[in-house]
Amino acid sequence: MLLSYIPYALEFLHPFTVHGNTRLRTPSVMVKLESEGFTGYGEACLPPYLGQTVSDTVAFFKRATELLNMMSTEHDLEFVLMMLRSSMSADYSGMAAIDMALNDLYAKLHGKSYRDWKGFDTGVSLPTAHTIGIADTSQLAQKIEEAKAFSILKIKLGTNRDREIIECIRQHTDKPLFVDVNQGWTDKHQALEMITWLNTQNVSLIEQPLPVNKKDDMIWLTERSPVPTIADESVRRMHELKALNGSYAGINIKLMKSAGLGEALRMIEFAKNQGLKIMLGCMAESSCATTAMAQLMQFADFIDLDAPLLYKNDPFTGLTYQNGNIVLNNLPGLGVAPKPGLFPSH
Ligand code: MG
Repeated sequence: MLLSYIPYALEFLHPFTVHGNTRLRTPSVMVKLESEGFTGYGEACLPPYLGQTVSDTVAFFKRATELLNMMSTEHDLEFVLMMLRSSMSADYSGMAAIDMALNDLYAKLHGKSYRDWKGFDTGVSLPTAHTIGIADTSQLAQKIEEAKAFSILKIKLGTNRDREIIECIRQHTDKPLFVDVNQGWTDKHQALEMITWLNTQNVSLIEQPLPVNKKDDMIWLTERSPVPTIADESVRRMHELKALNGSYAGINIKLMKSAGLGEALRMIEFAKNQGLKIMLGCMAESSCATTAMAQLMQFADFIDLDAPLLYKNDPFTGLTYQNGNIVLNNLPGLGVAPKPGLFPSH
């Protein structure tokens, strides 16, 4: 199998400022995997807060290229992934990209869409939440208007004016809200008070209300919370899911955390057996990785896959948004295609 990769900067339609730094773009590395005339695609998304650089990921792909060179599609997909995992250092985003490309490639070899190949529902189309950035409440009415096609809105709290933000939103819309606190609250009693109030405001879930290291407080909070609590930063892969111990009512699965579709599926199965809610999310990804994650949407209680809408230079086609719903095509593989010129021809 021949792996090629290309660093790519995804440019935001609306640059934003976090802690005094203005973010104009997200770095990523796109991959292409070729074998027997078939091609699979994948993406490693590298938002700066994960601390992983483009050169780290390129070095990872360089080593993976040597290993993949010795593999062919005669090998089982799980075997190829196992060989990569056992002989290389952990790189969740890099592994996610290769896992995507392999699944894309193998489904194409079978002449089927990924969902058809896996025996999943090929006709499902479900609503995604759409994030409203709230730098300034004066622009809120306009942002809500721009999101009018979407039936669910997502907002980020964890500020010192959380109640004011919700009250302001409720002057304009009564749509259900996903609330992401990003570890922003510190006191469990205040958190419960806030969640109890949010429960009167048509809020469907609370993502990561407390810091990752406050697990005992999260057990206390989840036992009492009238709104499902969803782990994001607290759960990346299966070992963290198994250690949750009642600290959350559900998990937000992302391919850049799980390191691929295989682990995401294992986590979905385990979480459902535990009675946990499933949320599917993404980092700041293009249509490539977002379309890969959307393949699993039939298993989700909550879907938050709107990242491609953030960019002005999405280098892939794949999923589309119709009236706020995610619609997948039934082309072979994941149904993603690079726009012309993304990968140099050779
Ligand atoms: Mg989150």
